[in-house]
Amino acid sequence: MPLRAKVASSVSRTAAALSRAAGRGDGSVIGGWIGLKIDPELLAHLAAGRSIALVSGTNGKTTTTRLAAAAVGVLGPVATNSFGANMPTGHTSALAKAGHTPYAVLEVDEHYLAQVLDATEPRVVALLNLSRDQLDRAKEVAMMAQGWQTTLAKHPDVHVVANADDPMVVWAAIGSAHTTWFSAGQRWHDDSWVCPECGSPIERAEDQWWCTGCPLRRPQPHWVVEDDGVVDPTGAWHKIVLQLPGRVNIGNAATALAVAAEFGVRPTDAVSRLGGVASIAGRYAQVARDGRSIRLLLAKNPASWLEAFDMADHAPTLLSINARDPDGLDTSWLFDVDFAPLRGRQVLITGDRAYDLAVRLDINDVPFQHVRTFTQAVAAVPPGRLEVIANYTAFQDIRAELDRVN
Ligand SMILES: [Zn+2]
Repeated sequence: MPLRAKVASSVSRTAAALSRAAGRGDGSVIGGWIGLKIDPELLAHLAAGRSIALVSGTNGKTTTTRLAAAAVGVLGPVATNSFGANMPTGHTSALAKAGHTPYAVLEVDEHYLAQVLDATEPRVVALLNLSRDQLDRAKEVAMMAQGWQTTLAKHPDVHVVANADDPMVVWAAIGSAHTTWFSAGQRWHDDSWVCPECGSPIERAEDQWWCTGCPLRRPQPHWVVEDDGVVDPTGAWHKIVLQLPGRVNIGNAATALAVAAEFGVRPTDAVSRLGGVASIAGRYAQVARDGRSIRLLLAKNPASWLEAFDMADHAPTLLSINARDPDGLDTSWLFDVDFAPLRGRQVLITGDRAYDLAVRLDINDVPFQHVRTFTQAVAAVPPGRLEVIANYTAFQDIRAELDRVN
């Protein structure tokens, strides 16, 4: 690396360490920010010489990144931004901290994919899904897909690993010369009823979808989730045993195996490593408290709420909603979520915007009880399982009450 980049990298690591020592988070954002101030090309310098995979999409990218890093880890040390710091500052910090690793798997915020592709020249880009998120500031889904398509056209050598079940992702990736399609299922369809190419309706039957006005349709997937396992491109089925709940995480595992395969990792060598991935920054963490077994599920937008209902056991459930800056200030997305799957469960609500949730649940005919604190919630349910589903800062609040569980 040039001298300026070496200095920038060193200062970046020091700043991150100082931030950690001061108890101000893991320091990856501030460390990366300072490093990039000293050398704006620092990310490119740190990326040079590494084989890199980027993972992007609205939901599942933190978990998929962790699983893919575990799978690629069969080959050697892998740098990764495992705390979800998914913008260039976080990538810079992660690579500076990791030192000289031959591989990197980086989670990328969907808005920053173009910038990070330019800087890191990855071997593989995994595109998971696109759905509505943070209504007050995120781009329209079709605009995001258009941006991805334009970006990928500028990087014809990148191998794209993309979700065949999401029409927006397929449209974004369809022009790429090297594409591997995976099928992980998709519960949320409300952002892809209209073809992004021609504006005609999209129809669906069983696993298939197709545009009624142009040739856009579901490509034949190479990697498919089947029962509690994944079928690889040769037709071999691999049982997936994870510590993470739900079919959606088997889908994330399929994506991780497809990414690792692009680096030459055989699925038979990688599957056991996937089972070693436990909770990620508190997501899916299980904590025992006062005879209750509490599990934390993060849900940030309508698509991820549907997935959380799917993952949660049929047990008492605490829902917590905030609308602070990292969450997005607009809670009208609550009306995009069908809360009916919660009927028949004991439902508790809390958080800054519990009353918004109360209105939504009332309209959805889901009885609930409001609690002011997490301790009250624990006391209000019988011993046994308590599922907690919360959006971003609400999740962090509860995680802090449980002593920052991992
Ligand atoms: Zn069309």
